[in-house]
Amino acid sequence: MSLAQRIDDGLDDWVRKQKERKYVSKWGTYYPSEVPYCYRQIYFARHFSKPPELSMLQRQVVGDILHEHYVEPAIKEIFPNAKRLNSERDFTLTLDWKRKIFIRGRADHYIHLREDDRTFMVEVKSVANLFASKHANLWAYEMQVMPCMVGLQTEEWCLLFMSRSVGSHRTYDFELDEDKLNEAIQRIVDVHGYHERGEIPPPEGLINPVFQKTLKTRTKFWRCEYCSFPQECAALERALKTEED
Ligand code: SF4
Repeated sequence: MSLAQRIDDGLDDWVRKQKERKYVSKWGTYYPSEVPYCYRQIYFARHFSKPPELSMLQRQVVGDILHEHYVEPAIKEIFPNAKRLNSERDFTLTLDWKRKIFIRGRADHYIHLREDDRTFMVEVKSVANLFASKHANLWAYEMQVMPCMVGLQTEEWCLLFMSRSVGSHRTYDFELDEDKLNEAIQRIVDVHGYHERGEIPPPEGLINPVFQKTLKTRTKFWRCEYCSFPQECAALERALKTEED
């Protein structure tokens, strides 16, 4: 094996070893990142287990480096008097104990701080470029952030987008909003209801207007563009249509 080949393969293996956690998707327990997912996408994630893509794991490694060597030391200087709270921890939010519905999250790229009487969180999201974050669908982030704010007991949340290529950045502030929190909870309770009734959820990514963006000439279904199950979804739609006919 050539030296180059050895390094190429070795780097990929190393990334897999570092980052490949057991993401087990099961009914009843949902990740905060799944709250703004299409209902059917959540269903597929529990029926077809797919290993995370290498490119996603590589992005996580670069995100770790940005977090550790750029954002962490900078935040320390920006808030010199703030006390650092434990930023690596899991949380579980019980939505319905009887029906066994939980949101379970893990604080990864977060800096949790207390300054005077305020506690706040800085969450670092590394992105390919800031253009996408400028047009970020803030609803999708609100749906993730609200349960995390309750689970991690923080009053304010700042989402910091860092460009992986040039290190430039963009920020968004969030405050806890009861209506949005309830919307996030209701989405998870609703999707769990499909499971309890033994129903396949509808292709929400193609139906719910929140997942649609109308460009000049066409409607873009942005959730579907980030979905890992487009073939499965299309095959299911075809099968359901054939049954109807
Ligand atoms: S392809 Fe679109 S509609 Fe189908 S599961 Fe994925 S996000 Fe939902």
